[in-house]
Amino acid sequence: MVLLQRQRVFDLLKKDSSSLLNKEINVKGWVRTRRGNKNVAFIALNDGSVIHNIQVVVDVKSFKDDELLRKITTGSCISVNGKLVQSQGQGQAVEIQATEIVLYGTADPEKYPLQKKGHTLEFLREIAHLRPRTNTFGAVFRIRHALSFAIHKFFNDSGFYYLHTPIITGSDAEGAGAMFRVTTLDLENLPKTDEGKVDYNQDFFGKETNLTVSGQLEGELGALALSNIYTFGPTFRAENSNTSRHLSEFWMIEPEMAFYDIHDNMDLAESFLKFLISYLLEHCEDDLAFLQKMYDSELIERLKLIVDTHFERLTYTDAIDILIDSGHTFEFPVQWGVDLQSEHERYLVEQQFKKPVILTDYPRDIKAFYMKLNDDGKTVRAMDVLFPKIGEIVGGSQREEDYEKLRGRINEMGIHEEDVWWYLETRKFGTAPHSGFGLGFERLMLFVTGLGNIRDVIPFPRSPLNAEF
Ligand code: ATP
Ligand code: MN
Repeated sequence: MVLLQRQRVFDLLKKDSSSLLNKEINVKGWVRTRRGNKNVAFIALNDGSVIHNIQVVVDVKSFKDDELLRKITTGSCISVNGKLVQSQGQGQAVEIQATEIVLYGTADPEKYPLQKKGHTLEFLREIAHLRPRTNTFGAVFRIRHALSFAIHKFFNDSGFYYLHTPIITGSDAEGAGAMFRVTTLDLENLPKTDEGKVDYNQDFFGKETNLTVSGQLEGELGALALSNIYTFGPTFRAENSNTSRHLSEFWMIEPEMAFYDIHDNMDLAESFLKFLISYLLEHCEDDLAFLQKMYDSELIERLKLIVDTHFERLTYTDAIDILIDSGHTFEFPVQWGVDLQSEHERYLVEQQFKKPVILTDYPRDIKAFYMKLNDDGKTVRAMDVLFPKIGEIVGGSQREEDYEKLRGRINEMGIHEEDVWWYLETRKFGTAPHSGFGLGFERLMLFVTGLGNIRDVIPFPRSPLNAEF
């Protein structure tokens, strides 16, 4: 085969690909379909760089190797040399007139699971090793990349530093959920103490360790030195919640800012979410249009609404009054002090305000120990951002910076001081008012893709009884 530089389909289909027009080029990818007759074959080729395929036209008569042509079926992988020309047919601006084709890999039509189109998302979940080759998952994973990039861009441009917090943690004080144990002990033959308990002194770290449920506590340590930091990494929760919104392994973004109060915190969360969504509207137009067509006819309209409207801000207490006065019957009854369920959150966002809502000042008893106590002694300076279709997408707060008040809360919640002595010390030495929040990356992915199940927005979902791929 003549050696030519490989071009990405993305670049070939760009409006200004004219410098390549009428030139000999190479393209490599996976065959989506092959059709035609005994004179001409049309191959739709996709290399994952863009949702669209490039059409490869083969003049069958002048193409000597028809044994090879027969093997070019859906799913096979080929390398094509040919001339990029303006398309004669409808549906595409340019196409390739093939001169040479090399077959890298066949895909037996009798056995290839993606031979036919139109599989359900449930079925595709069972073939997570192949589903990236579908239009839907190509779009989702490109959007996932763009969103990750936009997150780093937003923080970098705003003077935040990316802090890598540990994945293996020795603290289980966060209390955000059940944890996965990390151990090298022989589970068939556990070392025991004199009292008959497992002897973790003999474990790898000389103590009990787990996979982290959040990078926040360590993030705070960074903020109290670098001022503005963010984390962006995997977190793990061993809860048996088999819902369309929970994963056992998911990614979280947790900015933490010294000298921010709860209002600065809300401003940051709002402008952050708006930036991310405008970035996608600008950079992922084709993929969003595809997802809108296939899954959610209001997707782009809903994304624009986020960018264009001011988020409604009100207290938990006011929200409870609205919910009670609504006369609406909820599955979980509402009264002051209850933790809001997503049906309540969605009522506020979708029925009451018809825009994103930020709720503040939640009862202390339903929130974590590190949230700053309000003067009323009953509520804490929490702020949750609620989105249409999702409910809570961001949870954050101003943090308690007072040493004695924080110690009080820790004891009240039954956390051992010696487990968080290092966290407490930041309030002893140069404490500062500070705030932060956590954004569940896959919850945002659900929102921006319009898909309904969180297992479809991460390449290899981890959920109870599911870790095959
Ligand atoms: P939920 O009530 O939905 O279980 P949570 O109160 O446990 O959420 P936090 O501990 O506040 O959530 O975590 C911060 C963010 O991480 C949440 O706002 C949400 O976006 C996301 N999140 C929490 N748990 C999961 C999970 N199991 N899978 C995916 N994302 C999650
Ligand atoms: Mn939870």
